[in-house]
Amino acid sequence: MASIFTKIINGEIPCYKVAETDEFLAFLDINPNAKGHTLCIPKKEVDKIFDLDEDTYMGLMAFSRRVAIALEKAVPCKRVGVSVIGLEVPHVHVHLIPLNRMDDARFLSKETLQPEEFEAIAKAIASHL
Ligand code: 5GP
Repeated sequence: MASIFTKIINGEIPCYKVAETDEFLAFLDINPNAKGHTLCIPKKEVDKIFDLDEDTYMGLMAFSRRVAIALEKAVPCKRVGVSVIGLEVPHVHVHLIPLNRMDDARFLSKETLQPEEFEAIAKAIASHL
């Protein structure tokens, strides 16, 4: 069965898109640790990051870096943190999280955002790409 992220790639489930290439997609996490929390994924559906072929892995890292640089310009924060977990969704994703305090790097406290806020943040990040 297709992962929820493959459904997002195929447009079957909506997302707040930040960036897209032929191989990769970046969109806002729906249950963010902090405003601007973004997920970068390969369109190729693979469960674990280190099972990616080397080209896709390196491409995903370069894509994530480009998005992180734009994210840091768009969302005021001390720095952008990177995390790869994957215990919930078995489709490789790099979490990019604007950090102001240690708690932002934990997956316990969450921000509630309205659709207009998600839209504005996605647009702001995209404008810095
Ligand atoms: P992980 O697999 O790394 O533990 O976490 C999966 C992440 O994907 C979570 O932060 C969760 O909020 C996010 N997520 C799960 N389902 C969806 C979805 O349908 N849309 C979006 N935008 N994010 C999702």
